[in-house]
Amino acid sequence: MSEPTLSALATLFTLTGRAALVTGGARGIGAAITARFAEAGADVALLDSDGEAAQATAQAIATRTGRRVMAMVADVADLPSLRATIEAAATLYGRLDICVANAGIYPFAAALAVDEAIWDRTQDVTLKGAFFTSQAAARQMMTHGQGGRILMIGSTSSTRPSGNLAHYDAAKAGVRMLARSLALEWARYGITVNVIAPGEIDTPGTRANAVDIVQADGATLVDMHDPAFLARIPMGRLGTADDVARAAVFLVSDAASYITGATLSVDGGILLT
Ligand code: NDP
Repeated sequence: MSEPTLSALATLFTLTGRAALVTGGARGIGAAITARFAEAGADVALLDSDGEAAQATAQAIATRTGRRVMAMVADVADLPSLRATIEAAATLYGRLDICVANAGIYPFAAALAVDEAIWDRTQDVTLKGAFFTSQAAARQMMTHGQGGRILMIGSTSSTRPSGNLAHYDAAKAGVRMLARSLALEWARYGITVNVIAPGEIDTPGTRANAVDIVQADGATLVDMHDPAFLARIPMGRLGTADDVARAAVFLVSDAASYITGATLSVDGGILLT
């Protein structure tokens, strides 16, 4: 596929020649990020626990964009498998420039119903997974010696409780601080570490949890598209996975060369209320 001629401004946003890895990339926000990265010119390894979905998503994006998009199967909470997969991706592409720690789970449960298994699994996937994904990626970036971009998908719930997600809100608050700590430690290696904090985004995950989401504050709504639910969002609509992916392209591109340790809200204004 021939490269288009880019203006000077557009070259700041291109990812041509970069190798990226996205966890939880088979669907939802991770799939949208994978698609936009490939469209921007990157080769992308899409890591997910659901191998069949990962394969289907990778193939569809590769066909559409002409980029190398590889499906890789791993559970981000399983460290040997996570590390081996990230190493394999870097070997495959000969480098790793961009890593997005996106995989996360949000099993709704009132605080009194949270048992140790729910607590541990939420932390293991959402917080521990983000740390060890970043660590394995940073090792590859440091070996290559040309810096890199790490992006974590946090949540507005790191600062504003969701309701019936205390275990998740705490994990996402951890992700936000984790990014700041790693940003400070790895700045000298030319590695930036940032967070996107999405608000209410329409994904397979939120669709499956829609009733819990809209009733978290005791309301009797049944649908995320209910006007009463949308009225809580200043921009009056749910976000799309692509709203998040657009911000992700910016934060991993040269346009964001001097940004590190930052959290960018992509929430239609929810945190303003
Ligand atoms: P989805 O549930 O729609 O998709 C998540 C993907 O990640 C799935 O393919 C899932 O696979 C995969 N995954 C889950 N657990 C693991 C794991 N342990 N290892 C590898 N892959 C895994 O999620 P969303 O797109 O909605 O959310 C993505 C991220 O964005 C999460 O971190 C979430 O917390 C965050 N977020 C989402 C918001 C929203 O409104 N959607 C708002 C704020 C933050 P499988 O199908 O096998 O579970």
